[in-house]
Amino acid sequence: MVYKTKRGIVNPAYQKTADNIVGKMTMAALDQEMAKAENRPPLLGCDTDIGGGPTTSRFRQGLVAGGVGQLEFVPAQLNVSLQEALFEKETIPGSSIRTVLLVARAQLLLAPFNLRVAATFLPSFIYQFTVGERDEVDVRRIRTEAQTASAGSAASLLVIFCHLRNTKSTATSQGERTRIVGFKNFVLINKDLTHPDQGTLLHEMIHCSNDRFMNDIHDDDRNSVYSRGDNRNLLRDEHAISLNTAFFKS
Ligand SMILES: [Zn+2]
Repeated sequence: MVYKTKRGIVNPAYQKTADNIVGKMTMAALDQEMAKAENRPPLLGCDTDIGGGPTTSRFRQGLVAGGVGQLEFVPAQLNVSLQEALFEKETIPGSSIRTVLLVARAQLLLAPFNLRVAATFLPSFIYQFTVGERDEVDVRRIRTEAQTASAGSAASLLVIFCHLRNTKSTATSQGERTRIVGFKNFVLINKDLTHPDQGTLLHEMIHCSNDRFMNDIHDDDRNSVYSRGDNRNLLRDEHAISLNTAFFKS
C-alpha cells in the first residue's frame, strides 16, 4: 500500500485511491524500478595487482619531474577514525599493526606536501557478516552498524576494517559522493587481504577526494599510489591537490 500510494498507482477507471492488491500496474512499476536499479554501475572496489614490473624510487612528482616543484601547501592534518568489525569469536583485533603500516605509508607520501594524518581508534564492534564490497545493501549495512556503535567525529574520515567476501580487493570506498546517499565518504579495508606496499589507505582517500576519482580508472604509472602496482611510492601532484582540497583545507 505504501509503495502504491507513494507512486499513485491507481486505475482511474474504477478507483480513486490505491488498494492493497498487487495488480498489473504495480508489477510493471516494480519491474521498471528493479531494471533501473540493476543497471546502476557497480560500487567501486580496488583490486590488488601483485607481481608487476620494477618501480623506481620517487616520493613526489614535482620534485622529480622538475616541472611542478614549486607547489606548496599550508601544513595541515586530517583525523582518520578507525573502527574494526569483529566476528563474535574473533577475539584478537587485527587492525592495530595494519593501521600503523597504512598510516605510516600515507605519512611518508603526504609529508612532502606538508600534509599529515592522525589516527584515532574507535571501539571495535561485533559484526557477524562478511561484506560484498560491491553490494550496496551490504555496504550500507556495515556503515550504519559502525556508525551506531560509535559515531566518531564529523570532521574525520571513517575507516572500517572488515571481512570482504569473495574478492581480490584490498579495500573499497563509498560515500555521499557515490550512490549511497546520506553518508559522508568512508573506506572499508579488507582484513583478509593486504596490499604489499601498504598504500591502500591513501589510495582510497584519493578515490574519496573527488567525484572524478570515484571510478575504476587508475594510473598506468605503477609508481603512483593511485595505480594498481605493488610498490607504489609516488603521490602525484594532481592527487595531492585533490586530497588537500577535500580533506585538509579548513
Ligand atoms: Zn582504486
